[in-house]
Amino acid sequence: MTGLAVGDALGAAVEFQPQGTFEPVTDYRAGGPHGLAPGEWTDDTSMALALADSLAAAGWDLDDQAQRYVSWWQNGEYSVVARCFDIGNATRAALSHFMQHGDARRSGDTAEHASGNGSIMRLAPVPIRYYELFPDSVEELARLADESSLPTHASDQCRSACRYMAIVLAGLMHGLDRDEILAADWAPLLQLQRAAALHPAIAEVAAGSFRCRQPPDINGSGWVVKSLEAALWAFHKAESFEDAVLAAVNLGDDADTTGAVCGQFAGAYWAESRIPQRWRDSLARRDLIETALRGIAGST
Ligand SMILES: [Mg+2]
Repeated sequence: MTGLAVGDALGAAVEFQPQGTFEPVTDYRAGGPHGLAPGEWTDDTSMALALADSLAAAGWDLDDQAQRYVSWWQNGEYSVVARCFDIGNATRAALSHFMQHGDARRSGDTAEHASGNGSIMRLAPVPIRYYELFPDSVEELARLADESSLPTHASDQCRSACRYMAIVLAGLMHGLDRDEILAADWAPLLQLQRAAALHPAIAEVAAGSFRCRQPPDINGSGWVVKSLEAALWAFHKAESFEDAVLAAVNLGDDADTTGAVCGQFAGAYWAESRIPQRWRDSLARRDLIETALRGIAGST
């Protein structure tokens, strides 16, 4: 959760700026399209906080998850500045559907073209809360991650990305070797594939596309496939949390979300104590993140 928020905050200042067109990010910076102060974070962290709160308060209840996303959108709950300033188009449309019919399972767009990175950016609370499902029940963990996508991002690509990312995060949190987890033949990945094949584009990422590509083929796209690939590209070869998230956000474009996704992997792997102290100390509204974490960590 902290890694997610730090990556989000680092990327926020350069969101929408093309790769190579800005002074590389090395620290929190003011500005960006939302005019934030250094250390302030965006929708990625807000939605993760909403999801964490839901898991703590309601257990597994997709309608409750969607309702809390609506509270963020409509009332600015879970926002760093008490108003929603950056909701994605797919999320807005899906939550509008939810407000009409109240069924989160059919709120998100299932179309392939609606495959943004809005559900992987907020995923961390699921493998944190259901930490103990790894390694014996990886299919169940993947199923919950898949469902967590439905309220806003119901395409097969988005759901597959959540399934894969959840088991990787769980493996990292359990202290397994990074190269083992990210290998194409990692046993839990093969188990997921046998249970229900990942979308081919996500399967290609899981098979290691991030190892053989380089920018500009690796980029900070808002498309879930390229977003996941970029985050893993930045994470898999990094020597520190700092290296990983800075490589991710300096891809530009959807920099806050690439940072948030990479920050989840890096935070799960290196743990909170290895996130630079200055970034933890000056993260805005750290109290919200710590309260959310208390609600879901160690609660199974
Ligand atoms: Mg954002």
